Amino acid sequence: MKRTLLIPVLLGMVASASEPPPLGFSRDRAAALAPLETRLHEGIRPERCRREHRILTEEPHLAGSPRNLELARHIADEWRAYGLEDVAMVEHPVYLPWPVRYEATLVEPVRQALSLTEPGIPQDKDSYAQDVGIPYCAYSADVDVTAQVVYVNSGNPEDYDVLASEGIDVRGKIALARYSMPYSYRGFKALTAQQRGVAALVLYSDPADDGNGQGEVFPWGPWGPEGHLQRGSIVYDFNLPGDPRTPGWASVPGARVVPAHDAPSMPKIAAAPMSAKDAGRMLEVLGGPPAPRAWQGGLPITYRLGPGPARLHLVIENDREVRSIWNVIGKLHGRDAPSEWVILGNHRYAWVYGAVDPASGSASLMETARAFGELARGGWRPRRTLVFASWDAEEFTLTGSTEWGELEADRLRSGALAYLNVDSSASGPAFSASSVPALAPFLREVARAVPDPSGGSLYDAWRRRQETKPGEEPPVTTRLGSGSDYTVFLNFLGVPVADLTFEGSYGVYHSIYDSFTWVDRVGDPGYFYHAAMARYWATAALRLAEADVVPLDYGAYAREVLSYLDEVRDLAAKTKVDVDLSPAREAADRWERAASSVAGRARRALENGDAAGAARVHAALMTVERTLLDDRGLVGRPWYKHLIYAPRPTYKPLVLPGVVEAIEAGDRARAAAEVARLVRALGLAAAALEGAN
Ligand SMILES: [Zn+2]
Repeated sequence: MKRTLLIPVLLGMVASASEPPPLGFSRDRAAALAPLETRLHEGIRPERCRREHRILTEEPHLAGSPRNLELARHIADEWRAYGLEDVAMVEHPVYLPWPVRYEATLVEPVRQALSLTEPGIPQDKDSYAQDVGIPYCAYSADVDVTAQVVYVNSGNPEDYDVLASEGIDVRGKIALARYSMPYSYRGFKALTAQQRGVAALVLYSDPADDGNGQGEVFPWGPWGPEGHLQRGSIVYDFNLPGDPRTPGWASVPGARVVPAHDAPSMPKIAAAPMSAKDAGRMLEVLGGPPAPRAWQGGLPITYRLGPGPARLHLVIENDREVRSIWNVIGKLHGRDAPSEWVILGNHRYAWVYGAVDPASGSASLMETARAFGELARGGWRPRRTLVFASWDAEEFTLTGSTEWGELEADRLRSGALAYLNVDSSASGPAFSASSVPALAPFLREVARAVPDPSGGSLYDAWRRRQETKPGEEPPVTTRLGSGSDYTVFLNFLGVPVADLTFEGSYGVYHSIYDSFTWVDRVGDPGYFYHAAMARYWATAALRLAEADVVPLDYGAYAREVLSYLDEVRDLAAKTKVDVDLSPAREAADRWERAASSVAGRARRALENGDAAGAARVHAALMTVERTLLDDRGLVGRPWYKHLIYAPRPTYKPLVLPGVVEAIEAGDRARAAAEVARLVRALGLAAAALEGAN
């Protein structure tokens, strides 16, 4: 058998002699990496992703439900069988309200109860399930109101301004808003409705946005059938994610708690989701002026603004329970640096079956863990510790990951190299990556080492699908907002993060039709992209765990910050807020110089086999993201500590949040103070790197 092994070893040597080693690797270590990557890639199988995916999507598994606990046990058992170590189910009691009542009856001009259910589809037996629970918007206030309906388009501030200019008073009315593409977070629509004084908010899925206006609907295509509705949280987690009772510390049994209803993340308005089928009953009978052309949707009617004559009786009631949620954590302890962690995470719980969101990601995570476990059972051990996480209750308020991040804050702040998040792994074939700028070059390089199911490398497929111009790199989104489990790592702990997905047309998000059949038939038949994600994820984690020098590029980061400062300068000029940004520019320039000199230092150390030099650079690089945090946090939301990135209430990214929000508030003194603390952070970032030279 030795003879047959010789050939791949030789081939590997030839390849490594002609190509530069991967970022952060010396030639020696790169030679050891190549066969490990081959074994990981070969160990990952699409059909195993499919089998695991069927288990994960077999039944609805809301957070706090017995089924979701059962799935946690299943994952823990599997991980132990794979060979992961210290597999634990970590319990967090958290405020997690469930719906008790949701009724909507049109009382005028005709009386008609709305169904508020999603009809079964013969091709998908799972769509007939009776135990899917009441559809709801988590953290909605309770309401029992009868009021006229007014159509508010997307329910964004500019929409209410249009209504006001038409002389339409929305106060005390029921606002009917559509979920719209491009996506704006439903919690922002709720906050806006609350600020405008509406009595309650109904959010519906218009066929123009994610239904037959886009193309073929499920079961023949990826778009949402007329009866689909989108559940989801309306929590204001852009103010504070995690259990509202424990802002900034972990909810563990016996922990100190504050009243949930006082938390800045709790909406004061009632909201509920609806299908186009039900919403159409109201839209058909709305009077008032016709809605603007851009507000016309995909139903075969003229959309009118109201208010009335449609009047709706709406009852929304939730319990106020504290329920236990369970993160599953498994590890492969590092042989050389066990306190340095590379973390791979995905959430487990879903609104119903969650076949794409998040079970596709869970299936890829399981296969990634299994492939690593197989290596470990053969005697291999990563240089640093690999941590696998199955988060609970992400959909509520990023709850599980936030509580665990707060629980492990000290260890993560000192030892976490990177957090690699996958929420949905595959709703189609188009690869998309977001990360802090320091990880972007690394993410592109990893794509060169992973095959794409369409043939060639993932890197080439990525460029092709993004229509990247010749000579240009495929785009990594480096402006991070929020909306998935990376938030605690970036914004609270200062850990470099990446968020990965394969995307496609997907109109069944958070509905009952986000089912096994949708994925198996439409989203990823054959599960090739689930496997591609597992290979990509595994390759990235392996390289981070094995590199001589962690491949974080702070020159790229500093240049991004310089470009943000240009934007801030333009914003300040436009809003006539006089603020001196030159100290920030100088600090970012100094950071950039320090980063490029460290990059040279790392290159020489790797080329010359200078292990001590490489270790010094590595140790310095690991501290840099942390320096970009200020423990006092942002004005009005102290949990958010990162000074370069924060989410807006829409979940859209906000860069240099402290400075920008001060300028937007027209507060010159505050803007100057924000520039000062940005300068301090950038100075610390530069100093961290200068120390390694
Ligand atoms: Zn998700």
